[in-house]
Amino acid sequence: MNQIKVGNAQFIHNLNQAGIFRLIHQYGPISRKELAENTGYSAATISNHVRTLIESGYLIETEKGDSTGGRKPIYLTVNPTKGYIITISIGVREVRQVIFNLKLKAEAETVFPIGKQLSPGANLAAIITQTKELLKGQGLTDDQLVGIGIAVPGLIDKKGFILTLAPNLGWSNLKIGDYFKREFDLPLVLENEANAAVIGERELLYPQVDNMVFVSINEGIGCGIIFNGKLYRGASGNAGEFGHIIIDNQGSKCHCGNYGCWETMASENYLINAYHQLTSRQLTANKIYQLVKQGDAKALRVSEALSLNIGIGLVNIINGLSPELIIVGGNIIRIKDYLQKGIKQVLAERALAISSQKAKLEFTGLRDMAALNGLAYLVHNECLAFS
Ligand SMILES: [Zn+2]
Repeated sequence: MNQIKVGNAQFIHNLNQAGIFRLIHQYGPISRKELAENTGYSAATISNHVRTLIESGYLIETEKGDSTGGRKPIYLTVNPTKGYIITISIGVREVRQVIFNLKLKAEAETVFPIGKQLSPGANLAAIITQTKELLKGQGLTDDQLVGIGIAVPGLIDKKGFILTLAPNLGWSNLKIGDYFKREFDLPLVLENEANAAVIGERELLYPQVDNMVFVSINEGIGCGIIFNGKLYRGASGNAGEFGHIIIDNQGSKCHCGNYGCWETMASENYLINAYHQLTSRQLTANKIYQLVKQGDAKALRVSEALSLNIGIGLVNIINGLSPELIIVGGNIIRIKDYLQKGIKQVLAERALAISSQKAKLEFTGLRDMAALNGLAYLVHNECLAFS
């Protein structure tokens, strides 16, 4: 293992600079005095790094609030226009792109459909064209960008920037990194959609929760796990595939090739198939959501069965991991008011009481932005290089 050279002054310098910048990002506007009082950095170290960060444009000084007389105190805050982050969430039906500023506030968004009839490569080319359009619309050039974050609903080779398998998209061994690196000279972050979403929820809404699972229910089911305060990846880097735990050994075939996976019984695909079986009508998930909200008896019957099936999988997660919090997200939340009762009933009846009493159930507070917020945070943390 490579050891960091002790006494490498430049390394320590960079580490301190990045550390101070992150603290100001997290707690700003904040004064130099407050920083010194609340961190392990000396006043001199803070003063030096802050000066450099102001000179290079990463920080700005601002006056905040009233002073009790005399000079108003000077506060430090991140300069939102110093750099921008592109985030792209590739779903099975649509792609959502958002540009964030350096304060991680969303500045521009575009949503467009996946070309079902197009090859994966042609879809990626179309996504890149849309990225360039979005940047152009904002008047941004490559040198203003910190990096690009991409989330996909499937298994990944994170270091190789490869989408290994996305069963519901029908894409496999797709070298996403190559496509983007040909067009942008920028750092990339590739992440599983549910992993990005759990990071987004934690950073924005649940910073105190150290054990939580985000269950993203769309055409399939993906899960992101925060375990003891960190994203849990497992040996393969692809932990969290609870969508493919086998619930029914005699169950129907899953896109992964197995039978009776949870996602065959608790996803949008289930909703579509079950409604089709009941009515012989082949409707989209969005259409079925509409019917549920209109009180259509058959749609309600199917959504109730769905809620019980979702509950069964959540029982397995709660019994297996004992999280403090389970967040259900994805398109399915469009009918969350109709799912809540059934899910809670199954959790109350079937989960081990010792674990279920500790596990709070919530629906996503960030809705379609959960994964994009997570990506922005990841790019900010992994790609920001001070120069
Ligand atoms: Zn499966």
